[in-house]
Amino acid sequence: MNKVSLRNVSKVYNVGEKEYRALDHVDLDIEEGKLVVILGPSGAGKSTLLNLIGGMDVPTEGEVIVNGENITGYSENKLSDFRAESVGFIFQFYNILPSLTVKENVELINEIVKNPLDATEALEDVGLLEHINKFPNQLSGGEQQRVSIARAIAKNPALLLCDEPTGALDSQTGVMILKILKKQTTRERGNNTVIIVTHNALIADIADVVIRVKNGKIKSVEENANPANID
Ligand code: ADP
Ligand code: ADP
Repeated sequence: MNKVSLRNVSKVYNVGEKEYRALDHVDLDIEEGKLVVILGPSGAGKSTLLNLIGGMDVPTEGEVIVNGENITGYSENKLSDFRAESVGFIFQFYNILPSLTVKENVELINEIVKNPLDATEALEDVGLLEHINKFPNQLSGGEQQRVSIARAIAKNPALLLCDEPTGALDSQTGVMILKILKKQTTRERGNNTVIIVTHNALIADIADVVIRVKNGKIKSVEENANPANID
């Protein structure tokens, strides 16, 4: 089953008189249960693609179908419900609340989420069990990033979108996070789809699918027959 389908999708930004075509007539299908990496140079359209798939932005032209839902004509309210229910986000800005402890930050999941994991389990996954009662300002930058990852994982979303998820992490912690993201795609977790935008070509070695984007177009979609094992 396809988790994500884009049909003839374009995104044009108008700035004054000038038009910027961030995505140019893109067709794309992503199956469920896959770990997908999106590679491409700066300005290629990677973030725009992620924003359209996650319902954070709307296309200028074409259709976006996620989890079998055509979200293209959705109102702002419906898009907001769609994001809360079905999509998890791991972005560079951690988006954790300074007045809540680590554990409380991870427990802060919307009640409409279908299959949440236990907050403690998610924190154990990211190696933060011993820090659960700390406040964010008592953590290092890498630990704060892991809190936001634990929160996204605890939601156990059908679709998990990540923008440079290992950016602030040393390589050992980065590998740990990639293992966790891979685990999200297993049957046990519900065949979730994980899409990672990155400049890190190493991440492509463990992906099931590698998508290359350039100048607003999909240059290639490659299935990785033998993804590197990082267990
Ligand atoms: P990437 O994530 O691959 O670096 P983006 O999707 O952020 O690329 O951007 C693709 C293109 O669209 C770039 O040329 C960028 O300048 C342009 N762009 C992105 N967002 C906007 C915006 N809000 N207004 C104008 N142009 C934008
Ligand atoms: P890093 O090398 O990842 O930047 P730090 O040197 O900032 O880490 O922190 C090392 C350890 O000290 C971390 O486990 C962090 O949680 C803890 N720590 C940092 N600041 C505080 C603080 N204000 N209160 C309690 N623990 C802290």
